[in-house]
Amino acid sequence: MPESEKPKPNPYTVALQQLDHAALVAGTLPAVREILSQPKNELIVNFPVRMDSGEYKMFKGYRVQHSNILGPYKGGMRYHEQVSLDEVKALASWMTYKSALHDIPFGGGKGGIKFTPRDHSLAEIERITRRFTHALGSNIGPEYDIPAPDVGTNGQIMVWMMDTYMNVVGFSDKNANRRVVTGKTLASGGSFGRETATGQGIVHCISEWARDRRFDLNGSTFIVQGFGNVGSNAAKILARTGASLIAVGDWKGYIANPDGINSFKLSEYVLKKGSVVGYPGTRSITRPEFFATAADVFIPAALELEIGVEEAKALNVKLIVEGANGPTETDADPILRDRKIDVIPDILANSGGVVVSYYEWLQNKRSERWDLEEVEERLAKRMKRTYLAVSEYAAAKKCDWRVAAMAIALERVGRAYAERGIFP
Ligand code: GLU
Repeated sequence: MPESEKPKPNPYTVALQQLDHAALVAGTLPAVREILSQPKNELIVNFPVRMDSGEYKMFKGYRVQHSNILGPYKGGMRYHEQVSLDEVKALASWMTYKSALHDIPFGGGKGGIKFTPRDHSLAEIERITRRFTHALGSNIGPEYDIPAPDVGTNGQIMVWMMDTYMNVVGFSDKNANRRVVTGKTLASGGSFGRETATGQGIVHCISEWARDRRFDLNGSTFIVQGFGNVGSNAAKILARTGASLIAVGDWKGYIANPDGINSFKLSEYVLKKGSVVGYPGTRSITRPEFFATAADVFIPAALELEIGVEEAKALNVKLIVEGANGPTETDADPILRDRKIDVIPDILANSGGVVVSYYEWLQNKRSERWDLEEVEERLAKRMKRTYLAVSEYAAAKKCDWRVAAMAIALERVGRAYAERGIFP
C-alpha cells in the first residue's frame, strides 16, 4: 500500500508512544507513567438541539479531563466532524504536558462536539454551544475545568459558554465565574493579546531558533498548513521579520506563489470565502507538491498527524514549528532527525495560547485588565525562558526536542506525585 493511502494512526496511540519515550529520559516511575496513560475522567454527552428548520438534531459532545495534579483541568473545545474520544484523550494529555512544561498551575483537559460548524447558522451554533455547556453542568468550573477556543471555536463561542454557565450558577456568584472559560472576547472579560497569542508564541520560537543559528529571517521563506486562528496569526506576525509566505493550504486545497503571498489580504479573503483556495495571484498545487515545496520554515497549523513517513521524506525545509497539536506521526520523527530538519514540538511551539489563557484567568480572578504591552512582554519572557530550558535539556540529555519538552513536563508531574503520594 502506498504511504499516502495508509490510514492515519490513532492519535491516542501516538500520545502514548511520546509519553513512553519521554518517561524513559525523565526517569518517570512506572506508577506515574501508568496513571498518565489514562485520563482521570472521560465524559460523553448526547443532546438535542433545535435547528432553524424547526427539526431537532442529536449532537455528541466530549470533555476529557486528563490530569489535575498541578492545577485545574485546562484546554480547548473543538468543533469538527473528526472529533472522537481517542482524539480528545490525546489532546487532553498534551494539555497536561503543555502547562507543566511552562510551570503554569493548570492540568490538562480537552473537549469538543463532533459536527461541521460550517454547515450551521450562527443561531444554531449558539444553541448547540449553550445546550452543550448546560449538559456539561458542574463538570466545568473556574477552579475545576476551564475550556478555551480550539479548532472550529472562537471568542464568541467562549462567551456563550461563559454566559450559559454564569446563568445556571448562583446569582451572587455570577461575576466570580467569568473565568470558567478563557479566550473570551475583550468586551466580555477576555485578555488583550489572547487571540494572537498562539501565533505570537510560534514566532517567538522561530526568532529564538534563528538567533541561535545565526539565521537571517529577513528574506527567508515559509509554508503554512491550516489558515485558521493559529496559521493566519503566525503568518501575519512572522511577515514582520521579512520572511515570505510562499505556499499555504487548508481543508479545501493548497496554493502557492514563489514571490510571496500577503497574509493580511489572504486572511480577509478567507473570512469571505471560507478557504485559501482561489486566492488571486496564486497557483493551485497538490498536497504532495505543498509538502515538497523548498522553504526555510514549515508551520503545520491544521489537524493532528498530517506529517507521516511520506511527508517527512518529502519536506524540504530547515525547521518545522508545530502550530497544530500532534501533527507528527511517531515514525516520522526519526526520519526528520536523520534529514537534519529541526522540530520545535507542539507543546512548546503552540503554547502561547494557554499561556495567555492563564493571564486571562488571572486577570478575571483579580478583577484586573492588563494592557497589551504587559501581556506581550510576559508572553515573550515566558516563551523565551521555556525555549531555552528545552534547548538546554535536549543538549544535556542528547535527546530530540519533543522528548526534552515532554520530559521536563513529566519531571514536574512526577515530583508532585512523589511529594503528595498516591491516595489513599
Ligand atoms: N486550544 C489551545 C491549545 O491547544 C488553547 C488551550 C487553552 O488556552 O486552554 O493549546
